[in-house]
Amino acid sequence: MDQLKTGKFIAAFLIPEGIWQLVTVLGVCIVFLIPCFYALKLEVSVGAYRCKNCGHEIVPTYSEALWAMHRGTTRHLKCPKCNKRTWCKKVIKK
Ligand SMILES: [Zn+2]
Repeated sequence: MDQLKTGKFIAAFLIPEGIWQLVTVLGVCIVFLIPCFYALKLEVSVGAYRCKNCGHEIVPTYSEALWAMHRGTTRHLKCPKCNKRTWCKKVIKK
């Protein structure tokens, strides 16, 4: 019986702290992620990527850009023209 009481006491003591820790971690994640998502949205809206294989300019959708691997200004995208995945270099559209 005493063990159960101790267990309850520990749970009551730890759970709110656990929740606040979770809230803090989530809050920090959101604060850091929002500028990232916003930057990506801007990045997608201002340019296109040039296919290494055929030179076709790919304008990825937001979700395509989000899930595509990237290195600096190149992004690993599938070209709709030649159906090949290449490291496409960013080109700014005028
Ligand atoms: Zn291509």
